[in-house]
Amino acid sequence: MTSSVGTAPAPQLRDRTGISDRFKWNLTDIFSDWTAWQAAFESLDRKIGEYAALQGTLSQGPDQLLTAMRLSDDIGQLTYKVWYFASLKYDEDQRDNTINARRQQVQILFAKANQASAWFNPELLKIPLATIQQWMAQQSELAVYRFALEDLYRQQEHVLDDKGEHLLSLSSRFASSPHDAYAALSTADITHPTLTLSTGAEVTLTYGQYRAILATNRNQTDRATAFNEYHLLFTANVNTYASLYNAVLQRDWFLSQARGYRSTLEAALHGNNIPPAVVHNLIESTKASAEPLRRYHRLRKRVLALENYHSYDSTIPLVDFDRKYPYEAVLEWLPASVEPLGPAYQRQMTEALNSRWIDVYENPGKRSGAYSAPVYGVHPYMLLNHNDTLDAVFTLAHEMGHSMHTILSNANQPFVYSAYTIFVAEVPSTLSEALFLEHMLAKATDERERIVLLQHAIDGIVGTFYTQVLFADFELQAHRLAEEGRPVTAHGLGEIYFNLLQAYHGDALDYDDLARATWARIPHFFSTPYYVYQYATCFASSAQLMKQLTTGSEADRMAAIERYLALLESGGSDHPMTLLQRAGVDLSKPEPVAAVAEQLDSLVTKLEHAIDALNGRPKT
Ligand SMILES: [Zn+2]
Repeated sequence: MTSSVGTAPAPQLRDRTGISDRFKWNLTDIFSDWTAWQAAFESLDRKIGEYAALQGTLSQGPDQLLTAMRLSDDIGQLTYKVWYFASLKYDEDQRDNTINARRQQVQILFAKANQASAWFNPELLKIPLATIQQWMAQQSELAVYRFALEDLYRQQEHVLDDKGEHLLSLSSRFASSPHDAYAALSTADITHPTLTLSTGAEVTLTYGQYRAILATNRNQTDRATAFNEYHLLFTANVNTYASLYNAVLQRDWFLSQARGYRSTLEAALHGNNIPPAVVHNLIESTKASAEPLRRYHRLRKRVLALENYHSYDSTIPLVDFDRKYPYEAVLEWLPASVEPLGPAYQRQMTEALNSRWIDVYENPGKRSGAYSAPVYGVHPYMLLNHNDTLDAVFTLAHEMGHSMHTILSNANQPFVYSAYTIFVAEVPSTLSEALFLEHMLAKATDERERIVLLQHAIDGIVGTFYTQVLFADFELQAHRLAEEGRPVTAHGLGEIYFNLLQAYHGDALDYDDLARATWARIPHFFSTPYYVYQYATCFASSAQLMKQLTTGSEADRMAAIERYLALLESGGSDHPMTLLQRAGVDLSKPEPVAAVAEQLDSLVTKLEHAIDALNGRPKT
């Protein structure tokens, strides 16, 4: 989310009590009141105690294992309700200390639950897998847990003996130091410069202001100044950033070697059973599909009438547009947009929109941003801060995609498989946005709106796909330096980053030397290595599914819808690659990335036509 730069006063927020109940979520679907919550909290506490008491019983046989699995399910289900009632209530107004205290009480209980269940994995894994498989053959109710149990054995491949695990656990205290130091250097200890804009206005250049200038300021010199000043902040300490990043790389390589992985990438992907070839394929296929990205930037340069076109020119809107999208209107458009997914899906979405599952408007103290909260045994809740902008409308489409995933998964899976992994999670949310875009484009009455819609969609592809793959490529190349015992320097990291920028953008961009330090300002590199590629794989999966859902013969489309709904219904019942393969997406092949490039290419063509039409030129 970006805010506009300037001195306009923030709009007066409505008090929560002044907002009609229709636009506020109804948490009594979880518990009628705090007394009921308290009773559930105490019941949860008791069950956690009962679970701890099961320690030492597993080897007695299938009945004991089933008892432990079922009690764990019970605890899990109750946990969703107890946690979310307090947490959602807290997000309504985070200034409320009493509710914050209750929320923290649940967090303390979680820590207790973790301790109380720590015995389970080691005790289970002492029993040979063959024995467990025999038990599952005898006891059909235990067989429900087959995938969950067998996956624990698969994960076991890289678990060390007690002595080794103890040693590694001792290292965990300093493993987070590079990120802690990064956060201190880039946030706590940073002094943001003051910038004088061409209008004479003075701005303190925080990250938010930097983004806002790039996204709203029509003066290129102002954008250039903001870019330079912001990157100089990181260039000033670039050797320190490089040495902190080297610590991240060395830690990852140390842990990978200690656990017997051949590479840091293999270690990072093992949890979800993703073959490293998926990331290599993603990177190679994307680099080979950069032409539509370059086309887009060349078009922008022409429309914005810029002599030179830099990375800081890449987010400014192509046209001015301030249409408002009232929430009431969206309530009709959204179910209409998912018509390709069938009437049952539409009905379910209409119910989700009209049953007080959504907290719509901003109020003082409310948590910012947006999310979908999967409250198992009740229904998903959605938090929004709807402000009638186009961004807000797409945010709702996005969160609704997550919520429909939750609804279908919870309705079709036993509790143990109801939660889905991040590797699949962003598929329905981005597909929901893509369907909504199609609907809005078909409805758009003027070229200006069409241009804004197309730019919104294209910027989404650039940001969630191309940029994330570039980041993944950078992480992989940087980690290889550590794996191959080569030096890690600020100069070397800058070279990797700069070469990647050029490999993606070719001659469509004028390059700035300061962009070499960009890697130093990406917090994900320091906090969660090898994480962001998942946004890109989700996006590619969604693009290929969108293609299957909306093109081809009637029979092909019907089959694609069935496969897609089956994916949502499958929750976390298997490894994500397997689930996606069943839905018709093979991430080890170049097709999903090709679908993204095709989608982008067609959107850029539509954008070209809309711009020509706005300028009174005939479509070519
Ligand atoms: Zn999401």
